[in-house]
Amino acid sequence: MNDDLYQANIIDHYQHPRHYGHLENPDIVYHDVNPNCGDEITIELKIEDDVIREASFTGHGCSISQASASMMMEEIQGKPLAELRGWGKEEILDLLGVKIGPVRMKCALLPLKTLKAGVWGPSNWDGEDADDM
Ligand code: ZN
Repeated sequence: MNDDLYQANIIDHYQHPRHYGHLENPDIVYHDVNPNCGDEITIELKIEDDVIREASFTGHGCSISQASASMMMEEIQGKPLAELRGWGKEEILDLLGVKIGPVRMKCALLPLKTLKAGVWGPSNWDGEDADDM
């Protein structure tokens, strides 16, 4: 896809987020914010045998943060936690497919940060969204 198509894809996910809403009896609920931009994400997960069986999110904020969450939710469903533990900036930027500047990096990575903090604890996030990256 070229940049325009990626851009259109981001807007589509922003306007029609996938896996948006609440799960029944989620195993994990975790909320995090990106105060720089006012983005908020709450993820809900159902986990069985260390695999994500269902994933959903709610939140609001800029198009990058919400599209990133929507795309990530589609990807993580059915994936083993062991694989997701290795996810970082690269995986999310691959999904988004556009160049993300330093200011928007925290927006793009908020969903992954929320996921990792929810599953493994806030100390699992090693600051990949730091401004100097
Ligand atoms: Zn944002």
